[in-house]
Amino acid sequence: SVVFSYMLLLYLNKFVILFLYCDEMKKRNIMKEVEGKQQELLELNTQLKELATTDPLTGLKNRRCLQEKIMENIELSKKEHCSFSLLLIDIDFFKRVNDTYGHPIGDAVLQELAMKLQVETRTQDLVARMGGEEFMIVLPNTNKEHARVIAERIRLNIDHGSWKHARITVSIGVTTYEHDDNLSKLFSKADDALYRSKKGGRNCVSVS
Ligand code: GH3
Ligand code: MG
Ligand code: MG
Repeated sequence: SVVFSYMLLLYLNKFVILFLYCDEMKKRNIMKEVEGKQQELLELNTQLKELATTDPLTGLKNRRCLQEKIMENIELSKKEHCSFSLLLIDIDFFKRVNDTYGHPIGDAVLQELAMKLQVETRTQDLVARMGGEEFMIVLPNTNKEHARVIAERIRLNIDHGSWKHARITVSIGVTTYEHDDNLSKLFSKADDALYRSKKGGRNCVSVS
């Protein structure tokens, strides 16, 4: 009977080992699944962030993202005692483009302009669609004189460039961060400059 018990024990042992092995495999599979889900979540998060900061028509950054970028630049300028500039760009008589060619062509013109603005700017600059036919470019580490030169170059390239659907021109308002400016102050300075460009006959650059 001792021999029998011993045989039985050996026999049962196999099952215990098999059971432990299955349990371990199950745990590993669950871990793998969790890791996969975590990766999926990270990817979804990136996609969500992209969606929340992108303008769907042009693929440019949207106003929310623009404001964040300006706030970052304000903090940086305070800390490093440097400055940055903003270009507020508004298409001239855009209503006429819609009225003449239709809204879909108007949309295509907005997309074409967005492309041109991207091409015209450096990697460190941020091009955003403010809404409608208004765009803004953030130029980090750029003083007033330099910003004016960049704005004038952009205006000229739009005026003289080739267009697939309809020719347009833009008016630009330039403003530069000065000590103690906040977001709304910067926007209102850019607006003032743009207003002067419109009043001054459009297709031109004004600095405030
Ligand atoms: P100004 O030179 O004074 O800026 O004249 P404007 O005609 O460009 O300005 P206004 O503000 O009178 O008209 C802007 C037009 O932009 C009116 C609106 O229909 C058009 N618009 C705004 N958003 C879009 C858009 O997403 N797609 C299209 N196709 N048109 C748009
Ligand atoms: Mg406008
Ligand atoms: Mg306009």
